[in-house]
Amino acid sequence: MADQYTFQDPIAQYPMPEPPEQSQDGPGLDADMTPKADHGQETYRGSGRLEGRKAIITGGDSGIGRAVAIAFAREGADIVLSYLPEEQEDADHVAQLVRDAGRKIVLAPGDVVDQAYTRSLVRTALDELGGLDTLAIIAGRQQYVEDITELTPDSFDETFKTNVYALYWLVQEAVPHLPKGSSIITTSSIQAYQPAPILVDYATTKAAINTISKVLAGQLAPKGIRVNVVAPGPIWTPLQTAGGQPPSALPEFGQQTPYGRAGQPAELAPAYVYLASQESSYVSGETLNVNGGMPTP
Ligand code: NAD
Ligand code: MG
Repeated sequence: MADQYTFQDPIAQYPMPEPPEQSQDGPGLDADMTPKADHGQETYRGSGRLEGRKAIITGGDSGIGRAVAIAFAREGADIVLSYLPEEQEDADHVAQLVRDAGRKIVLAPGDVVDQAYTRSLVRTALDELGGLDTLAIIAGRQQYVEDITELTPDSFDETFKTNVYALYWLVQEAVPHLPKGSSIITTSSIQAYQPAPILVDYATTKAAINTISKVLAGQLAPKGIRVNVVAPGPIWTPLQTAGGQPPSALPEFGQQTPYGRAGQPAELAPAYVYLASQESSYVSGETLNVNGGMPTP
């Protein structure tokens, strides 16, 4: 049975998704994507790398966050899962997989633009998991707008609140409770370095995430807390089908990479596992690019 360690050609490991044109409202659902994404459900094999750890995963219902939830659970972590209420169907699917791995999952739907909700995730972890030592901050908003004259203040605001403010609120709330050894992992993007003309607000938030993560890495090092970033390239997830890209761009999605294909969420999970686990003890303030070979600074 193949797993994430099986030696093979990384380009041929997944077919080009070549998705048909499609679009979804709201945050989008994995359940409504064509073709289906791979979250490592059949292939991710745990080996105790996060035994006994207690994690909050935001955006954990679908896409990269779902792959991380599956991997964290199979590596031995218990999880508080954050997602939007309209994503309940996707979250229920993840919950079953985490329970199948023998781990605890607490479903905590809500909107991270709501400061009180975002801060409450920390209390949920402390009360329901008995502690907190890992933050995987993966929730994100990406809505393409062709022209700056059409980018509304409300949309700009919501992108910044979701991608940057929520990170700040969650980290601020968590830090007093995080024991030495804890790991914070944020999620940036290739868009921080190679911004698409149609992603003014989104690309800017991703650059901000890179910088805030490096600042926090320095500030929190004396507390024994590491902070690192994962910066994905084009990954086949609902984000892209729910307003992240023009539908007409989807059939070629990811073909601009040296690999010539989009990535799958399953290919991101090992990066988060590495940065969460004690294996990366001397790694903080780093950005791990997972992008099919695109050059980054
Ligand atoms: P996704 O749609 O599966 O995940 C994004 C999640 O963010 C959603 O599932 C949703 O639960 C959450 N979210 C969005 N707005 C929210 C809100 N207001 N309140 C609560 N939760 C909210 O897509 P994904 O591609 O797996 O995205 C995960 C992360 O990866 C994002 O930060 C995204 O910017 C980043 N990323 C994705 C790609 C890509 O090509 N897919 C590339 C680079 C970076
Ligand atoms: Mg989702």
